Amino acid sequence: MTELARFRNVVDGKAVESVTNRWLASINPFDAEPWAEVPHCGVDDAEAAVEAAHRAFVRGPWATMSATARGKLLRRLGDLITRDAEKLAAIETRDNGKLHAEMVGQCRYIPEWFHYFGGLADKVEGGVLPMDKADLFSYTKREPLGVVVAITPWNSPLLLLTWKLAPALAAGNTVVIKPSEHTSCSTLALMDLVREAGFPDGVINTVTGYGHEIGPTLTRHPMVAKIAFTGGDATGAAIYAGAAKGLKHVTLELGGKSPNIVFADANLDDAVKGAISGIFAASGQTCIAGARLLVQRSVHDEVSARVVDFARAARLGDPMEATTQVGPVTTLAQREKILDYMDVARDEGARCLLGGGTPDDPGLGKGWFVEPTIFGGVSNSMRIAREEVFGPILSIIPFEDEDEAIEIANDTLYGLASGVWTSSIRRALTMADRIRAGTVWVNTYRAVSFMAPFGGYKMSGIGRESGQAAIDEYLQTKCVWINL
Ligand code: NAD
Repeated sequence: MTELARFRNVVDGKAVESVTNRWLASINPFDAEPWAEVPHCGVDDAEAAVEAAHRAFVRGPWATMSATARGKLLRRLGDLITRDAEKLAAIETRDNGKLHAEMVGQCRYIPEWFHYFGGLADKVEGGVLPMDKADLFSYTKREPLGVVVAITPWNSPLLLLTWKLAPALAAGNTVVIKPSEHTSCSTLALMDLVREAGFPDGVINTVTGYGHEIGPTLTRHPMVAKIAFTGGDATGAAIYAGAAKGLKHVTLELGGKSPNIVFADANLDDAVKGAISGIFAASGQTCIAGARLLVQRSVHDEVSARVVDFARAARLGDPMEATTQVGPVTTLAQREKILDYMDVARDEGARCLLGGGTPDDPGLGKGWFVEPTIFGGVSNSMRIAREEVFGPILSIIPFEDEDEAIEIANDTLYGLASGVWTSSIRRALTMADRIRAGTVWVNTYRAVSFMAPFGGYKMSGIGRESGQAAIDEYLQTKCVWINL
């Protein structure tokens, strides 16, 4: 048996294994074989990581470093990620099965966040108050919160970490990272670059293991000031409840059931491509997946047929191969959950127009593949239209006019993202006003940027990541009074 690669945590600047002496296998979804191991941490490891971050926050070079110097460190880290983007992307693909080409694209784009927030670090300003009282001088300062715990999911480990890490560090906080138990390796590989960039010990720490085992220690620890979380809504709600007890700050990026709305006046070629990439990219494992395709009734049959034809041609295969269009899903449990939802959809009376199971292709070996699947005849009251599947299942729902499209689009507990396909500017603006979601894409889908605020309405989350305001999520204001 080949030796598994071993990745270690970094706490207080030192590479560490778990005090439990246990290891957790990282499994490659393409062949269902373990390829690496990370420490299987326990409560003591989690406490040590928080304490290290707290020490680095209250004393040590980070506490007194100028914001300009902090910004330079962030930009240096960004440059090192650019240098190692392909290597990091290959690790991510091995861990989560997403297309290597997509992960390379993400890892090459990630440095932009470090450059952007590195640039913002020394532009955080306070103010002098005009003051209504004689002999008193008063000014405000914007200060970091303290120790931030960053908890990430398995679908885009480094990108979603970066959305937290870059603004948290730019604001002067220290961080404990808890990556997903399924995909920890790229985060631990990043820590080599953190050291090379020259961050002081304890500023960024990692602790790997199961969320249910170490999560509560991290999120309820009295030394932790803020939790920045991306993941499922049930986990997010549990973290929020725990955080309330300690009055901790939170940013929660949770699930979605995003509507992708096609009007008859749209460029249908673009709309069909947008519908396909909206749901089948990353095998549907994105929080922004356009899982509900709302199509105006006059073009419903035509668009449905074209979407099915397009998806039928998708090439499933090894995610490391450039020609592959759809890779496996990340975990066996996720595959089971997706297959269960296919049964739910059939039981509810939805018509399976494509896929509906696992591919019958010996070339795909033991990989955790699911067929790109499309259901027609879906009503918005069905579970398949209401619950987040996090897999390659598209539900097509007809609508008559703008009012009905809005009613269906907003009839969801979620509000993360949405798409509108139309050639009418008036309609685009009206829909953008009326959709209750944090992101509205018009004649495009899935665009994100370091400068664009991202986050959810309703059950999709609290707070925003990316954009200038994201740094505010990691700052608090102090008011200083001086008797002259
Ligand atoms: P998850 O909620 O199971 O796990 C996310 C992270 O939380 C993991 O690191 C996990 O170990 C940790 N965790 C689990 N229980 C915990 C606890 N009690 N305390 C603290 N941490 C705990 O989610 P997942 O299965 O990894 O990811 C899929 C989900 O994430 C989907 O529902 C998806 O919609 C959501 N997601 C949202 C976004 C977004 O930006 N809104 C992005 C990607 C994924």
